[in-house]
Amino acid sequence: MPNCQKCGQHWSWLQTLKVNFKFDGMECQNCCEKQYVTSKSKKKLNRISYLPVILILLLLFDLSLQITIGIIIAVSILLIGLYPFLIKLTSEDEGVF
Ligand SMILES: [Zn+2]
Repeated sequence: MPNCQKCGQHWSWLQTLKVNFKFDGMECQNCCEKQYVTSKSKKKLNRISYLPVILILLLLFDLSLQITIGIIIAVSILLIGLYPFLIKLTSEDEGVF
């Protein structure tokens, strides 16, 4: 889980998940300094967010639709759970990428 770059406050899982969906950054609950996801983290998250889409290719194999959908849902839940662990924060907006 990331720490605020100004005060070092440890961010919660939920707080970190929220900052990922806010393009204009999010204030630290401790020091109110706006924090942004680093561009390096955004690139990393962007790459793994394609994983469920790639898993749709499982439909090309002889797996049943239920198993394929189950795998895609399981991987999606796993990714959402792991997202906050892959995020690093910065005090300066580094842009989209
Ligand atoms: Zn802070």
